[in-house]
Amino acid sequence: MRLQGKNMIVTGGASGIGLATVRRGLQEGANVVLADMPQSEGAALAKELNGQPGRCLFIQCDVTSSAQVDHMVSETVKQLGSVDVVFNNAGIGGLSPVEDLTDDDYLRIIDINLNGVFRVARASLRQMYQQGSGSLINCASILGTLGQSGTVAYSSAKGGVVNMTRTLAIEAAPRGVRVNSVGPGYIDTPLLKDLPPEMREALVRLHPIGRLGRPEEVANVVVFLGSDEASFVTGAYLLVDGGYAAGKS
Ligand code: NDP
Repeated sequence: MRLQGKNMIVTGGASGIGLATVRRGLQEGANVVLADMPQSEGAALAKELNGQPGRCLFIQCDVTSSAQVDHMVSETVKQLGSVDVVFNNAGIGGLSPVEDLTDDDYLRIIDINLNGVFRVARASLRQMYQQGSGSLINCASILGTLGQSGTVAYSSAKGGVVNMTRTLAIEAAPRGVRVNSVGPGYIDTPLLKDLPPEMREALVRLHPIGRLGRPEEVANVVVFLGSDEASFVTGAYLLVDGGYAAGKS
């Protein structure tokens, strides 16, 4: 088992890619903290998944709050003893042309998808530096390096995540900690639930593999990056996109 004996945190763990990663982490032998918003299904899910085979705990954490993020990390250490792998995954979507985007909507996307990643990274790295080991995986997107109409806030945040990852990887390497990002293509999760069918079809055509991705396909890559099999991988931006970006760079 790839994550045997490791303690893992997954933010936004109650849905989509996060939930798939919680399940894979447990299957690979980790104890997993499922962190998500207080009103999420997280507590019930963690109860259901606990013992399959590792421990699964719910810790409520809104990544827009530094206090909640810091508490998530300290509570994990209190309950499990260490923080070995963190999947910095919580995020929201949001489509709007720039001329219609309000300050509130722009700032909310940035606060969750970029500032939230920073808050979780800072709290996790403080703990991992004390341990002298750890692996942090930030969730970016294909829109971390590519543009797309209607995604000015989202793609700005994800571009920030890709480059934040590179800088953190350089800072963390001498401390025994690896930092990477994943760049999913369009993945079939609740984040895409409001897409009209014609837009969904158009998105499918953008992936040479001919379909949207499955959450488990991102989770598999996160588990690899969190494991010792990836011991020489840091600062990477690993696409999990069915070939979406291949013809565009
Ligand atoms: P989901 O909406 O299925 O899951 C996201 C989870 O994050 C939800 O449980 C959500 O809670 C939670 N969340 C939202 N805001 C916060 C917050 N402030 N603090 C803590 N948790 C929060 O989305 P996906 O699984 O699709 O997305 C996961 C990540 O993958 C995101 O970073 C997204 O940008 C990225 N991604 C997704 C792609 C896709 O096509 N699906 C493509 C590329 C990247 P709630 O439901 O209450 O909002």
